[in-house]
Amino acid sequence: MDIVDIAQNSQQRLQEAALMNHKQAAAVPTPPMKLSNSGRALCIDCDDDITERRKIILNAQRCTSCQQDVINLKHRGR
Ligand SMILES: [Zn+2]
Repeated sequence: MDIVDIAQNSQQRLQEAALMNHKQAAAVPTPPMKLSNSGRALCIDCDDDITERRKIILNAQRCTSCQQDVINLKHRGR
């Protein structure tokens, strides 16, 4: 394998990765798992209204602070 082959391989891998990202971005947002009586999305951990947050993060199921807790727990588990 010469240097041209290596360059073409990594180029192809980059394109595949870009395609994967694109597919994920186009995915349909997950509906909220928890809803208030008036139909607003709620944090599954603390019942905070996350309607505004879901406009930015379409698949959000938690408020900012609960999501941060989950991320922290994951990092601690490693
Ligand atoms: Zn919360």
